[in-house]
Amino acid sequence: MPVVETVLGPVAADELGAVDAHEHVFLRTPVNPGDEFLDTGKAVAELLRVAASGIGTVVDLTPVGLGRRPVQLAEVSRTSAVHVVAATGFHRSAHYPAAHWARHADDATLLDVLLDDLRSGMDSHDWGFPRPVPSPHKAGVIKLGASYHRIDRHEERWFAAGATAARQTGVAVAVHTEVGTAAHAALDLLDKHGLPAGRVLLAHTDRNPDPELHLDLIARGAHLVYDTIGRIKYRPDSVVLDLIERMAEAGKLGHVCLGTDVGRKSSLTAYGGGPGMDVLGREFVPRLRRRLGDEAVETVLRYAPQALLGKEAPAV
Ligand SMILES: [Zn+2]
Repeated sequence: MPVVETVLGPVAADELGAVDAHEHVFLRTPVNPGDEFLDTGKAVAELLRVAASGIGTVVDLTPVGLGRRPVQLAEVSRTSAVHVVAATGFHRSAHYPAAHWARHADDATLLDVLLDDLRSGMDSHDWGFPRPVPSPHKAGVIKLGASYHRIDRHEERWFAAGATAARQTGVAVAVHTEVGTAAHAALDLLDKHGLPAGRVLLAHTDRNPDPELHLDLIARGAHLVYDTIGRIKYRPDSVVLDLIERMAEAGKLGHVCLGTDVGRKSSLTAYGGGPGMDVLGREFVPRLRRRLGDEAVETVLRYAPQALLGKEAPAV
């Protein structure tokens, strides 16, 4: 059984329980000013609700420089008894101001940052230089980001570093797509750097609920995460249920994961907002179970994410 690196150490993939494959336990980004959430006690409260909704693991896709707090992340995981898989990597370039070091670091430094987080433990200061202070808590997945319909020159370099780090450590790569665009381009670029689509999770594909596109991406080997569950301003959840049903009819449900990606303070119950990180287990899973049955639920919450997150033997 492959293992998954969590903030509290390696866990056998089949011990993860039901997986919410895209969350943020802490996040601070200039893209959403005033909507940052960095409070440890409130994170514990939110994750206790997630645990009560039947979820055993959350994949925290907060990348480098956006409020990652590895020591506190471990504390939240321990206190809530929810496994947390943390990310290293870089978001789409809009999240990093013009002067940010990640835009100007050379290729070797970018790769070193990712490998340090994956192999030694994430920097306690989240690479707020000058000097890294390693924590004992390793990242278990790599996060990358693409812009709307394009991958810019900074993102291209971060993709190259991410693909190389994934090959050298065996972890998977999760890619933020902007409204579900540039997904084929993201797979092409990672493949160019030696990472096959089978090791890639494409986020926000449900923002562009186009089943033909989704089946094409899956045919390349990619996993998709439908991760705007409960965020009704984008579309009703019935659209996501329809998408899942289409993927099931095509026999491709083993490539679909779920998440809520509540990346704003105003979306979290612990801060008085909604729908809350637990909306997946609390509201959506019962609907999915009624529509498609237990096996479909097991496939998207356990089988698909476990297959993706389990570390592969590193390639050179
Ligand atoms: Zn996210």
